[in-house]
Amino acid sequence: MAAKSSLFKVILLGDGGVGKSSLMNRYVTNKFDTHLFHTIGVEFLNKDLEVDGHFVTMQIWDTAGQERFRSLRTPFYRGSDCCLLTFSVDDSQSFQNIGNWKKEFMYYADVKEPESFPFVVLGNKLDVAERQVSLEEAQTWCRENGNHPYFETSAKDSTNVAVAFEEAVRRVLATEDRTDHLIHTDTVNLHRKPKSNSSCC
Ligand code: GDP
Repeated sequence: MAAKSSLFKVILLGDGGVGKSSLMNRYVTNKFDTHLFHTIGVEFLNKDLEVDGHFVTMQIWDTAGQERFRSLRTPFYRGSDCCLLTFSVDDSQSFQNIGNWKKEFMYYADVKEPESFPFVVLGNKLDVAERQVSLEEAQTWCRENGNHPYFETSAKDSTNVAVAFEEAVRRVLATEDRTDHLIHTDTVNLHRKPKSNSSCC
């Protein structure tokens, strides 16, 4: 018998190449190779988990395929419970862009209360030797731009991936009464968007 679970929509945003698909893949399937995702066009994956006694199904949305995605921003963003702003610690440009991703998300998702909306910031590719963004710089940005939690992750070697996603759930639980999201689920699912959606751009 499936357990009752709350459904949370979590969206990964950030420049192309920072590792969004890899983080989702690492967390849900514990694999690093995203070739299959990119080939078949996976756009979200579900992951069941328990956080602090709450059973949750996290629906994690990836914004792979940036060009096609741009005209689909509103349906992608709307209804998100948490946004993971992602950059790569070896790419300062991707760090400079997270503020723009945040603004864009708030606009298209039509976030009514930006001060309390849960954002989590991920500095990915921690395993890479040559950093362009320091821990202090990233922590300062997070503190000054809404006091967002910050995690340095590696989708390659798994560092901090699970704790970052779990923190996203905690932030959602802390901000909302989730009883309106009750569904039945007990599996980890692989989803594809219908083909009709992918031909429109
Ligand atoms: P996306 O466009 O943001 O979804 O990025 P991808 O997940 O497709 O990753 C882009 C490239 O970065 C791929 O070659 C990945 O193998 C690589 N990559 C992703 N995460 C990591 C990581 O944590 N460490 C390293 N070294 N490479 C990574």
